[in-house]
Amino acid sequence: MIAAALMTAEGMMKFHIENFGCQMNEHDTEKMASLLAGEGMEQVEDAKNADVVIVNTCCIREKAEQKFYSLMGRLRAVKRKKGTIIGVTGCIAQMEKENILERLPFIDFSLGPSNIHKVKEAVDRALRNGPFLDFSENGCNGALLVRPGYGQGTVKAYVTIMKGCNNFCSYCVVPYVRGREASRDSCDVLQEIAALGDKGVKEVTLLGQNVNSYNNTRDDISFPELLRKINGINGIERVRFVTSHPRDLSPELIGCFGRLDKLCEHIHLPFQSGSDKVLNLMNRGYSSDEYIAKVKTLKDRCNDIAITADCIVGFPGEDEEDFRKTMDLIEDIRFDGIFSFVFSPRRFTRASTLPGEVPRAAALERLHHLQKTQREITLAKNKAMEGKRTEVLTEDISKNSKEELAGRTRTNKIVNFHGPHTMMNRLVEVTIVKGYANSLKGTEPKLKEVQVC
Ligand code: SF4
Repeated sequence: MIAAALMTAEGMMKFHIENFGCQMNEHDTEKMASLLAGEGMEQVEDAKNADVVIVNTCCIREKAEQKFYSLMGRLRAVKRKKGTIIGVTGCIAQMEKENILERLPFIDFSLGPSNIHKVKEAVDRALRNGPFLDFSENGCNGALLVRPGYGQGTVKAYVTIMKGCNNFCSYCVVPYVRGREASRDSCDVLQEIAALGDKGVKEVTLLGQNVNSYNNTRDDISFPELLRKINGINGIERVRFVTSHPRDLSPELIGCFGRLDKLCEHIHLPFQSGSDKVLNLMNRGYSSDEYIAKVKTLKDRCNDIAITADCIVGFPGEDEEDFRKTMDLIEDIRFDGIFSFVFSPRRFTRASTLPGEVPRAAALERLHHLQKTQREITLAKNKAMEGKRTEVLTEDISKNSKEELAGRTRTNKIVNFHGPHTMMNRLVEVTIVKGYANSLKGTEPKLKEVQVC
């Protein structure tokens, strides 16, 4: 009987969730919001209007951690004024565990990423008995199985297929805070996606820290087989997945591109460095030549595929020659986009103890050079789309103008175009008239006939 405890004099309690980090976190936030809404609680945009504020954290980079602690300072003041219940969930919670109460003595509950399915209980227990903490980890657990109740009109949805990671890249904290790999049963995944298709969802993004190793350690279907089965689900028109580890990108998976009509022509394939010396220090398990060869096979299979990636500069021991090799790889592949960062040492990781620290100024200079080059490549690729007719799934009003709709191509590029609101949440075709650095401009939108099989 949790619901009774969640009442205030004004009615049901209101909650607000602040999200930091990746799509996995975004989806965990959706799951918690759905569980609390299922108890009758109302989600509000502003923390100041909430009875319960949850901060879903990320500790992948130092900057996200700093932002989190400065937000907590502001929330402490809100709590003093209003008595707000404050919860901290996600990776920082897992990293700090019980110590979190020493650092943030005013919080009321804290859950690791494997325990977010206990959010209702946490709020209830915090209201009755004071602080509630849970950082236990257990394989394919409840957090993985929660299905957020997407509302009417939702066209895009995330579906978690696995969690955790066994790779231990030397800079990465994920295996320590999200635990070892655990995959969801394929039957459960397929049922969830079929239900989403029935509700009108057109695009699903399969989530996992390393989706390529889905079911590697258990007796169930492989990731390419899962993709083939999803390709046959009615209603679903587009399938994406993140994130892929280049070493685990098998020929069978590469062969799915260009062959499965619903699999979008986009892959996010982090390379991290173009130097084999640095890749070795990172414990990535592939060489730059192996990475380039896989990308070339992908492009051979699927001519129009868009490739995006992550890259770290200023990794310990990286010298100018190593950085030049990174730039050579970037100019060779010509990525559609790169998320690039200066190395930030993370607790527990081997890289945080490596010698050869790169001075901050030198690392920043490399980052700026890389980003400038990549901006030019992205712009040239977007300009090359001018005059082409392409499919867009509209999902919002454009950020540029209230008069325009916005959506994404199958290659995951943002397109803004003038069109009637009846085209919202629909598959349309547009002609690209202008390519910019971060988006495309479309015209002559036409609703796309959707073949229902
Ligand atoms: S594969 Fe990805 S999640 Fe796993 S340790 Fe490496 S960087 Fe982290």
